[in-house]
Amino acid sequence: VDESVREDMRKLEDTFPGISDRFRLVNRIGEGTFSTVYKAEDLHYDHYQNDWDIFDKAQQDTYDSPPSKRRRVQGDLSGRKKARFVALKKIYVTSSPLRIQNELELLHDLRGCGSVCPLITAFRYQDQVVAVLPYFPHTDFRIQYRTFMVADMRHYLRSLMTALNSVHEHDILHRDIKPTNFLYNPDLKEGVLVDFGLAERQGSEYTSPCLCTHQSYVRRSRILSSYYSKNPPSAGLSAGYPKNDSRPSRRANRAGTRGFRAPEVLFKCTSQTTKIDMWSVGVILLTLLGRRFPFFNSADDIDAMIEMSSIFGTRRMKTAAAMHGQIFETNIPTIGEKGYSWEKLVKWSSCVEDLTESEEQATRLLSGLMELDPSKRLSAADALQHEFFTNPVH
Ligand code: ADP
Ligand code: MG
Repeated sequence: VDESVREDMRKLEDTFPGISDRFRLVNRIGEGTFSTVYKAEDLHYDHYQNDWDIFDKAQQDTYDSPPSKRRRVQGDLSGRKKARFVALKKIYVTSSPLRIQNELELLHDLRGCGSVCPLITAFRYQDQVVAVLPYFPHTDFRIQYRTFMVADMRHYLRSLMTALNSVHEHDILHRDIKPTNFLYNPDLKEGVLVDFGLAERQGSEYTSPCLCTHQSYVRRSRILSSYYSKNPPSAGLSAGYPKNDSRPSRRANRAGTRGFRAPEVLFKCTSQTTKIDMWSVGVILLTLLGRRFPFFNSADDIDAMIEMSSIFGTRRMKTAAAMHGQIFETNIPTIGEKGYSWEKLVKWSSCVEDLTESEEQATRLLSGLMELDPSKRLSAADALQHEFFTNPVH
């Protein structure tokens, strides 16, 4: 372990009285925007009542080699079966107390949901909060995505969809689905969903409902959008996009990670649903099939819309925008009206001439996930019933 990491771990032990009575910090395993995560050994391991089967299995690796060390660890723990490793998530003090409370509360609500990393407990000392989660050995997505066969994608996605199915059954939006928040263990062919820092309950936005919730408007939006394409709004669009845009802006939750944001998030829909997570799963599948990470690489929301429209074409983007009461216009000459099929995109991206039958099947699932209209997009429950899972071709 790096000396600076050691120093950082000592600092945590010093600022948190008593923490070292219960935990032995092992390493720093994650550093994000909102937290630092450490691997630690829980010295009170035996006190757990819960069933942590999957974590036990995953942690077996830790003891497998070398055997002599295994015995020593067991000896050190004076008769305990095995060491229990945990992830200590130190949430930055810059996070608002409400945000921290929200994360812990949602995790508490989701206890018992398979494939969702459970919360063991949490500690607070002054303004510092540490969440304790069982440690889950996993592989870095950037290393594994290139080697994934379709069968691996199936295991990965089934596990992720299972997690999301339970989260969504609780009417909770994760809002930040991406590879670093889904820890996947290729040996177990299972993963756990982590990081509920941006999660929220569906319908917790205190704004007036979006146009897309009115069924008749959704139908009308198609008519509207064809009207707009014949009569472009006279905003005086010059080349590029306006720098000093004086139009009033709409407020909507846009939390998430660039490249993974659903179209309705970009269009500032005020009635976002659990379907936003399904779009992000689609982006992960696109990354796997297209063998490119990150697949989308936008600097901001406008860039992201441009990337999206170069795939979907302007016609479908206009319809999607109108659905949320927005107008989509672009004068970028390379963006066509029609867009491309997912099959074509997957072939281009992965540089292959033809897709195998199983890749075609996965691509059909992809098109159900990356559907611009959230009401038509597959839910996690729908996706688990997709032929890709229920009737896989090999
Ligand atoms: P942040 O809000 O800072 O993104 P996360 O909860 O996503 O925090 O954790 C950051 C990283 O820490 C994860 O991407 C993962 O690498 C690691 N991590 C988090 N929880 C665990 C866990 N239970 N087991 C193993 N590693 C974890
Ligand atoms: Mg994270």
